[in-house]
Amino acid sequence: MRYISTRGQAPAVGFVDAVLAGLAPDGGLYVPQTWPSFSADEIAAFAGKPYAEVAAAVIGAFAGDEIPKADLLEMCREAYATFNHPAVVPLVQIGPNAFLAELHHGPSLAFKDVAMQILARLYEHILGKQKRRQTILCATSGDTGGAAVEAFRGRKNVKVMALFPEGRISEVQRRFMTAAVEDNVACVAVAGTFDDCQAVVKATFQDEVLRQAVDLSGVNSINFARIAAQAVYYFTSAVALGAPLRPVSFCVPSGNFGDAFAGYVASRMSLPIGKIIVATNSNDILATAFETGRYARGSVHATISPAMDIQSASNFERLYFEGVSREAVETARAFEAFATAGAIDIPPSALASMQALFRGVAVGEDETRRTIVATLNETGELIDPHTAVAVAALKRSPDVPGPVVVLSTAHAAKFPEDVAAASGVTAILPRGAADLAGRPERFDRLPAETEMIKAHVRAFAEA
Ligand SMILES: *Cc1c(COP(=O)(O)O)cnc(C)c1O
Repeated sequence: MRYISTRGQAPAVGFVDAVLAGLAPDGGLYVPQTWPSFSADEIAAFAGKPYAEVAAAVIGAFAGDEIPKADLLEMCREAYATFNHPAVVPLVQIGPNAFLAELHHGPSLAFKDVAMQILARLYEHILGKQKRRQTILCATSGDTGGAAVEAFRGRKNVKVMALFPEGRISEVQRRFMTAAVEDNVACVAVAGTFDDCQAVVKATFQDEVLRQAVDLSGVNSINFARIAAQAVYYFTSAVALGAPLRPVSFCVPSGNFGDAFAGYVASRMSLPIGKIIVATNSNDILATAFETGRYARGSVHATISPAMDIQSASNFERLYFEGVSREAVETARAFEAFATAGAIDIPPSALASMQALFRGVAVGEDETRRTIVATLNETGELIDPHTAVAVAALKRSPDVPGPVVVLSTAHAAKFPEDVAAASGVTAILPRGAADLAGRPERFDRLPAETEMIKAHVRAFAEA
């Protein structure tokens, strides 16, 4: 399997190189040269299989012969054994034809664990074979950092540093990052915003000398291995509800569009999907794009679903590339213009092809809070604000054909203050995390100054 860039100016690479690189050197995102596909019989055979086996089949379709099948299966077994539930991603019914797929049973209680747990094992495997050491630098608005630290702590050949905006993430989110005692992880509280953290990471990657010296790598949601790993639960959920004999729809709380794009990937692999509702909070760039054809950046509003407070959905470039029939020149033009002007007008034919699968729905804060209460009253399920955005979006879409699966992306206990303020109920941390507040924390504090943070990265990598 070869991977090409959405901007057409980078050479095609194999799976391993696409994973370690993250972003393509021409600024584009890697996509497989052709989409692998399963037959209806192969999809039907996923029903009732352990999650790790389906994961090995789906991810294996993208890895081709670059990762030995037996090794991949072993990595998937280990990755999903860290989850707190034997189904890994269990379904919970919340309406006559509506279900939650609970993606939050991993070590850091957010859906990022699903991809990060396997990604860390892929890194360790690949780097061990190549006798190479890498340093991963990531900026986090809360959940990515915790998932990365949980997944990479104690792994050989790789170090991870997470930068988070001091005072702007929840205490539970912070503690999942800062409680790790292993020497190969480090956390930095940056005196600034998430955007400041991201700007520092970007500047660090642009320092060619440092990048080579510490062999810098990234694990943000543009990494194609994360997308492949997220396609898995579309398959496991859909077959449990009758696919491939009947189509299943999905409703996805969205920010960077990685999770929803993974649904597109599953559909390209022949999983029959009715509709994918792209649910956003008031940062509605994606919802507006699917509705009107104009993809335009606004200013970021802080909401009670902070992992979705994003006004530039990186993975949208992959869907655009497909929508314009893989015209790399047009994709490069559009996203270079977006970087400067902050807007793209989606060509009508591309918009029509996107709307055949996707629908966007934006949900406000009051509606999100009311949905937490209503869901608790109607079903007894205490959902987090991100999941509530999606449940609210589904309520506004009664015409979407069922069964519909709402992706539940975080555990309510990860956002206890906002959940309690809305519902009056305090969410309890599940077993395994119950002692979180008592674990000692370890992190450094730095100003949002690129040169200081770069020196810190170098010292950490070389220690
Ligand atoms: C990251 C995240 C999202 C958004 O996922 P994208 O792939 O960025 O669209 C939604 N909910 C939670 C809890 C998250 O951590």
